[in-house]
Amino acid sequence: MQPNLLILGGTTEATAFAKAAAEAGLRGTVSFAGRVERPRRQPLPQRVGGFGGVAGLLAYVQCHQITHVIDATHPFAAQMSCNAVAACTKADVPLMALTRAPWCAAQGDDWTHVPDIAGAVASLNQPARRVMLAVGRMHLQEFAPNPQHFYLLRLVDPPAIPPPFPDHHVLVSRGPFTTDDDRALMQDHGIDLVVSKNAGGTGAYAKIAAARELGLPVLMIDRPAIPVRPEANNVADVMAWIAHTGTDRGV
Ligand code: NAP
Repeated sequence: MQPNLLILGGTTEATAFAKAAAEAGLRGTVSFAGRVERPRRQPLPQRVGGFGGVAGLLAYVQCHQITHVIDATHPFAAQMSCNAVAACTKADVPLMALTRAPWCAAQGDDWTHVPDIAGAVASLNQPARRVMLAVGRMHLQEFAPNPQHFYLLRLVDPPAIPPPFPDHHVLVSRGPFTTDDDRALMQDHGIDLVVSKNAGGTGAYAKIAAARELGLPVLMIDRPAIPVRPEANNVADVMAWIAHTGTDRGV
């Protein structure tokens, strides 16, 4: 049987991997949660929407005769990654995560770490500041307890419901962003604090570099825990794993 991949996507890495798989003539499907209105076009067929928890993913993998699952979701998509570990174990289908290393503070960085979004909200219980809030539109409502700040929001799509704080500016943009542009953006809005998830990778790093150049503090939201699973950090290694696993398992 030829490989038939399920690629859990929503990231630049997933798109890069889908391109490599398509170019190698592999069969597969890219799966999106449906969080953005216009997901990037993929070089493989795509599906959109949750599977219905572990049971739903297990059924999907079995019904579609998936031979390999590649979890290339965002490092903060912990629920999906946990479900993938559980469903692949039950289905006895090999799983590989395509991950990116977290950012590490460099000289000149002024970071305060918080463990999660709730930790960031708690830290913002302080007098009004001008905050660049880079957490994605799904989490904006959680910042309702701190409406005293000005918030600069850069989002892929406009907020579905108005943010729960009166003083804000929404910028709809998908990037990529440059350090120069982000430095200018922060200066234009008088930003004095950046709140960011530790996404890792290059796509979202410009704001971190810009904060360093401007001497601004960053409230860095650390990554959620995910069960141990096989991981690769580049597309070539995942392709090699598929070739190897296919041979081993007779697929
Ligand atoms: P999550 O909390 O881990 O997932 C919640 C639920 O959304 C999952 O249980 C699953 O529903 C569904 N889901 C998530 N990713 C899916 C996928 N690729 N295909 C099908 N269903 C998916 O994840 P999230 O934080 O909401 O992120 C959703 C997607 O956005 C991910 O694919 C991720 O790569 C992308 N993304 C997330 C972030 C972030 O900061 N979280 C940033 C950029 C991109 P069921 O249980 O019904 O299967």
